[in-house]
Amino acid sequence: MPSMLDAVVVGAGPNGLTAAVELARRGFSVAVFEARDSVGGGARTEELTLPGFRHDPCSAAHPLGINSPAFRAMPLDRYGLEWLHPDLPMAHPFTDGTAAVLSRSVAETAASFGPRDAGPYRRLVEPFLAKWDTLARDFMSLPLTALPRDPVTLARFGLAGLPPATWLMRRFKDERARTLFSGLVAHVMAPLDGFATGAIGLVFALAAHARGWPVARGGSQSISDALTAYLKDLGGTVHTDYEVKRLDDLPPARAYIFDTSPTALARIAGFGNYYEGYRYGPGVFKIDYALDGPVPWTAPEARRAGTVQIGGNTAEIDAALRAASREGRAPDKPFMITVQPGVADPGRAPEGKQVFWAYGHVPNGWTGDLTDAIERQLERFAPGFRDLVLARATAGPAELAIRNANYVGGDIGSGAASGIQLLLRPKLSLFPYTTPHPAVYICSSATPPGPGVHGMSGHNAAKAVWRRLRQEP
Ligand SMILES: Cc1cc2nc3c(=O)[nH]c(=O)nc-3n(C[C@H](O)[C@H](O)[C@H](O)COP(=O)(O)OP(=O)(O)OC[C@H]3O[C@@H](n4cnc5c(N)ncnc54)[C@H](O)[C@@H]3O)c2cc1C
Repeated sequence: MPSMLDAVVVGAGPNGLTAAVELARRGFSVAVFEARDSVGGGARTEELTLPGFRHDPCSAAHPLGINSPAFRAMPLDRYGLEWLHPDLPMAHPFTDGTAAVLSRSVAETAASFGPRDAGPYRRLVEPFLAKWDTLARDFMSLPLTALPRDPVTLARFGLAGLPPATWLMRRFKDERARTLFSGLVAHVMAPLDGFATGAIGLVFALAAHARGWPVARGGSQSISDALTAYLKDLGGTVHTDYEVKRLDDLPPARAYIFDTSPTALARIAGFGNYYEGYRYGPGVFKIDYALDGPVPWTAPEARRAGTVQIGGNTAEIDAALRAASREGRAPDKPFMITVQPGVADPGRAPEGKQVFWAYGHVPNGWTGDLTDAIERQLERFAPGFRDLVLARATAGPAELAIRNANYVGGDIGSGAASGIQLLLRPKLSLFPYTTPHPAVYICSSATPPGPGVHGMSGHNAAKAVWRRLRQEP
């Protein structure tokens, strides 16, 4: 290691690794320090239950990863990353045994909503889909780390997406489209009537039509391993088992980039109350299952989908979100996101078996056990599910926060996705990646564009760093 590094990154999650790669490929010397014994943060794979069952403890489906402008500009396929597509990106089953689907095809998606909503859905997504790559780059670079390439489309997207999702959903007449769309918004745990929640649903839908919601062959760890291998080829170094508690723990560097929560950064760098106004959102209760076979969904479409959303209707989803985020209690009928990677990647489990995960939202720091409520919900849409369970690994807010310090109180988004904080985080600032210390930056999902495995927070923060480093003598 040189006596003075250009940059030190704290945390080897997707954003930390992306920031490190972006700097290394521009010729800067970089070292990464990670608290855990392996890289990955929220993109990792472990045998959590039984031998041969390879679970993704955190992220599993990657609409934002495959659509990420940062990842797409890197040769990650050469380092082992392969996206595998399920037949359907996502299905949302109903209690009558049918399902609405989010397909690669806009037509198939629209048809699953029924005749009255097919047209409105096409008219909503098709104009944006035609310009998706530019829109994704412009949207993920907000607040303006780069000039928008297509400001007109970005403004139109803002008009559609900045109002609450409940406004946008008024154009749908039937419950099928509304329920699927509510579920998309709920992926980032935002209440449906919140500012800019329409944009969340739109981004997930457009991402599906543009490039799908794939899983990574072998598990999400392969995303992190590919980033790490690329970084090492570029001359960067990675140090695991190294929890950073103070700035003094780190070697001398011209810039320090933190892939941590704002709270941890304030403690480590001595920023006092600088991030005091930053709010954390609800937590999740997650279960990883080893199953004796595929999930017995009643709706055939759900058996073909990588991701399956569980929530009877819009009212039920809204009630679940409100319970966890506003009423301080666990929902009776949790809204759930479930992923069955084996639909696209059978190698995750021994022959004939499956790995499967499900999580529901609970209040931040909640200490109860949601297992029964989760499995009651699953039995509604997949009767006989419980009979297939070979083993389960449960993790509530406390366990999630132990696994990864960024999940404060079990908030897997590292900050509430509500109000203006959905777009401007961790401070109300046009320079979210900078901090009170001129050499210290933050790049975690507590910064725009927020949660998800896409590396764009790391990319944007790295851009702020390389611009400064190049100006210095
Ligand atoms: C249950 C669950 C399911 C999810 N599902 C999906 C999904 O399907 N698709 C998707 O796109 N996203 C999903 N996500 C979200 C996604 O995982 C995160 O948004 C993403 O990982 C954030 O990346 P990051 O780099 O900002 O932080 P993280 O991935 O959280 O990485 C931060 C890293 O910093 C390390 N660190 C923290 N403090 C220190 C310290 N003091 N010293 C050294 N190292 C430190 C941590 O150990 C960690 O490795 C899910 C998350 C969870 C928990």
